[in-house]
Amino acid sequence: MPSNPETASADTPPGFPAQGLMARLRFDPQEGRIWLDQQRMLLVHASAQGVLHQELIETLGLDAARGLITRLGYNSGSNDAELAHRLRGSSSPAEAILLGTQLHMLEGVARVEPVRFDVDEERGHFHGEFHWHGSAEAEAHMRVYGQGTDAVCWQQVGYASGFSSRFMGRPVMFREVRCRAQGAPHCVIVGKPVDEWVDAEEDLRNLQADRLSRGPSAFRRAAPAVSVAPAAAPASASAAQSLLGDADVVGVSAGFNAVCHMVRRAARTQATVLFLGESGAGKEVLARSLHRISPRAQGPFVAINCAAIPEELVESELFGVEKGGFTGAVSSRAGRFERAEGGTLFLDEIGTLSGPAQGKLLRALQEREIERVGGIRAVKVDVRVVAATNLDLREAVARGRFREDLFFRLNVLPMRVPPLRERREDIPVFMNHFLHKFNQRDQRRVTGFTGRAIDALLAYRWPGNIRELENLVERGVALAADDSAIDVGHLFLGGEELGADRWGSGFGDGMDIDADLPSQAGELRRMREPFGAEAAAGTEAAGRGGGPTSPAPLGQRVAALLAGAEGAAAAPLDEVEAALIRSAMKRTGGNQSAAARLLGLTRAQLIYRLKALKRVEAG
Ligand SMILES: [Zn+2]
Repeated sequence: MPSNPETASADTPPGFPAQGLMARLRFDPQEGRIWLDQQRMLLVHASAQGVLHQELIETLGLDAARGLITRLGYNSGSNDAELAHRLRGSSSPAEAILLGTQLHMLEGVARVEPVRFDVDEERGHFHGEFHWHGSAEAEAHMRVYGQGTDAVCWQQVGYASGFSSRFMGRPVMFREVRCRAQGAPHCVIVGKPVDEWVDAEEDLRNLQADRLSRGPSAFRRAAPAVSVAPAAAPASASAAQSLLGDADVVGVSAGFNAVCHMVRRAARTQATVLFLGESGAGKEVLARSLHRISPRAQGPFVAINCAAIPEELVESELFGVEKGGFTGAVSSRAGRFERAEGGTLFLDEIGTLSGPAQGKLLRALQEREIERVGGIRAVKVDVRVVAATNLDLREAVARGRFREDLFFRLNVLPMRVPPLRERREDIPVFMNHFLHKFNQRDQRRVTGFTGRAIDALLAYRWPGNIRELENLVERGVALAADDSAIDVGHLFLGGEELGADRWGSGFGDGMDIDADLPSQAGELRRMREPFGAEAAAGTEAAGRGGGPTSPAPLGQRVAALLAGAEGAAAAPLDEVEAALIRSAMKRTGGNQSAAARLLGLTRAQLIYRLKALKRVEAG
C-alpha cells in the first residue's frame, strides 16, 4: 500500500492508473448511452440532487428520505465494487479500496483524500478515514437549505458502505462525522465493520427499508467473528434449525427491501399472500415475518411443506381426520387448518398439491370451513393462508395441473422473492451472519474469509440461494482452522459451478441473462458427465477383459437403450435413479438444494428419495 495518502489524487495515482478508469468511461451519444465499463451511467445535474433531497424530505420526512438516499448510494457503491474487483488484478486490498475512491472521484462526487486506512481481508479488519473536499451532495443540499446541524452526504456515505461491504464480504459501515453542510471545511467519514460500532442502530435503519422484525437483524447482531463463543450455544442456533429460522435476516438490497415493503402492507390485511421464487430464497422467513407483524401475531403460525408429504396423506394432514376416516385412523385428529385457528397457515410448495386436495383447499378459502377426512360436518376456521411456490403456477394451470379457480384465490397478493444472485449486496450480510452463527454453535474461532473466498462467494451463481450459502459457510467453518480464515478450498468441494469471472452480473440491468448462459451450459454439462464418465470408465473395465457374465456399466446400458441399440441390456429405472441421485449428491458436495436442482426435483422430494435409497442400501 502506498505510504503517502496523497497518492490517491487523480493526476498521480501510483499502483492504479486513473487513466485506466478514464478509458473505461465511454460516451456513446449516438445511442444515448454512457458506460463505465459494463455499467450504464447517467449524467445528472448536481443541482437536481438538492431538489431531490428537498422533495424527499418534505414528502417522506427527514429519516425516511435519508434512508432512501443512503440505500441509493449503497447500490452504486456495491456496483462499483464489482468494477474495482475486475480491475484489481494482483493488487493489495488497500490498493483496491483506493480504486474505489478514484471511482468516486471519477463520478464527480468529491475529491477524496484517504487519511488513513488499514485493511485485512482475512481478519475482516477494516478501518478507514477519508476526507471529502467539495462534496457535490453537501453543496446541493446547502443550495436549498443553507448551513445546518446535520451531516447530509447520505448518498455518498451509503456508497462507501456499499463499496466496502461488497469488497470485504462483511458489513462495513461508514458514518459522516463532520460535513461541509455543518460548516466544516470538508466532510470527514469513518468506516469500520458494523459490529465495531457501538450505537449503529440508526445508521442501520438507513440501510434497511423496512425492518419486519422487532428483534435485531443479522446486520446488527453480527458480532466480531473472533469473539469467544459462549459456554453453551444458544438454543436458537441448534443444528436442527431450518433456514434462517432463528434470525430475522433482513437484506440491504433494493429487491429484498421492495418485498419487505409489500409484506408490511399485506400484513395489515387478511388477503391471501402468494410468495413466488426459487427454493432457499427465504420465502418461509418472510411468511413468518408477515405473521409476526400482522394482527394475528398472537395466534399460531403453522407451516407445512406440501411436497414433503406423501400425496395420500396430504388431505388428512391439512384438514384432519375423523376416527375411522380411513384405514389406520384409530382416533380423531385435527389437521393443520384447525391447528392454525386464529393464526396463519403457511403452505409451502403449493404447486405440488394433488387435485382433490386443491379442491378442498379452494373450499376452505371460499367458505372458510373445512371437513375432516371421513368427517360429516363442516368446521368453521379462521385462518389466514400464506402460500409459496417455486413453480410457475400459470403454466401449471395451462397444463391442467393446477386449478385455475384456486390459482386466482391464491394469487391475490403475489410477491416475488428475488434469488440471491439478483441481490448480491445481501451476500456479505449473510456470510457474516452464518459465520457468526456457526462459530457460536460449534465454539469455533474462524476469523473470516480470504480474499479469494470472498470473490468466489460474491461471484457464485447460488442455485440453492440462501440455504446453499448457509450450507457452504457451515462447511467452511467446519473445515477451516481456528484463528484463520475460510478459503475457497474449504467452501467449494463438490463441483459447484464456479464462474471464472461473474462479476458484473446480477443487478437486474439486463446483463444477468447473458451472464447466466455459461453457467446454464455448465449445468447441462454436469448433467451429462455422470453417464459420460461412467461409460468411459466402463470401456476400460468391461472392455476387452470383461467376460460375458459381467454386465456393462449402467451408463453404457442406458446409452445403448436410449440409442435403441440391438439387444441392449436392461437398465432398471430404480438403478438409474439411484445412480443419478448419488452422482448429483457427489457433484454438489452433499448440498441437497443444489443436487435437487440438478435433478429437477424440489429439495423435499430429493430428501424423500434419499431416505428411500438409504433404506434400500441398509436392507
Ligand atoms: Zn458532507
